[in-house]
Amino acid sequence: MPERKFAVIGHPIGHTMSPFIHKRLFELAHADGEYAIFDVSPDELSVKIKTLDELSGYNITIPNKQAIIPYLDRLDKKAALYGSVNTVRNGSERVGFTTDPNGFLKALAYADISFSGNIAIIGCGGAARTFLYEAALAGCHITLAARDIGKADVLAKEAVSKIPDADISTCLISDLNGEFDLLANATPVGMYPHVDHIPVSDKALAKCKNVFDAIYNPLETVLIQKAKANGSNAVGGMSMLVWQAVAAHEIWDGSTYDINDIDQLIEDSAVEMKKIFYK
Ligand code: NAP
Repeated sequence: MPERKFAVIGHPIGHTMSPFIHKRLFELAHADGEYAIFDVSPDELSVKIKTLDELSGYNITIPNKQAIIPYLDRLDKKAALYGSVNTVRNGSERVGFTTDPNGFLKALAYADISFSGNIAIIGCGGAARTFLYEAALAGCHITLAARDIGKADVLAKEAVSKIPDADISTCLISDLNGEFDLLANATPVGMYPHVDHIPVSDKALAKCKNVFDAIYNPLETVLIQKAKANGSNAVGGMSMLVWQAVAAHEIWDGSTYDINDIDQLIEDSAVEMKKIFYK
């Protein structure tokens, strides 16, 4: 019987890939760990935090990524920069981390996508913030495109306030134009069940050398399919999802993994996703 307990907490928390991915990561690392799903709303955190303290660690999803922060003793540097936590390590203190940035960077690196030059980011939500801050930290020239230019301006201003050297211009998605080393979609456009949707025009897409889509359901969005047909290097979000989970195990246990095992997990996660979402 595993003695150490872990969980993902969110609200509402229905379909989630987390148990499948984390259980496999414990197995691969020969580490002891049970992994559960807890439905906890931000209002319940003050009462449930004692139950959460019984866990060795946990993952946090929407809508608790900011709400958990007042209950933590400390944030690591990246979680503090983002003001967002998706992983907690319990021990002598409750420490908050965010592993999405690491997951994003690893997904690009393992797809041989160099994170430099002119980058277009589409969207202004949580995933866009991750892509934007990381692109700014990497010294990229960034175009942030949204359907609401006001929201793009607010996010760009926020990024510059935290990363003063950030080089960001904003535009409407419909006005996106230019040659980009990387186009990163951070909108749900093209996500199941609206799988025939695409966030940018064919004309804009044709000028992008590399394409990353945060969406992992479906595994290959129309955006990724078209980018590949154009001869661009393109990768979908399943890789990021798995790598951000790997980063949590590095935090909890210092676990390290063979790249072949992670590639296999990404493939198997795609199969599992079909079982979870398309049944
Ligand atoms: P979010 O915080 O809700 O932000 C979504 C963004 O997309 C907003 O800027 C929204 O604009 C924009 N948007 C929504 N519908 C649009 C449309 N029809 N046209 C243009 N823009 C539209 O969501 P998120 O957490 O950033 O997630 C975005 C996507 O990334 C989701 O598909 C999610 O599953 C995926 N994701 C993947 C990973 C991974 O590990 N692979 C991690 C995080 C997220 P408005 O503000 O104007 O509505």
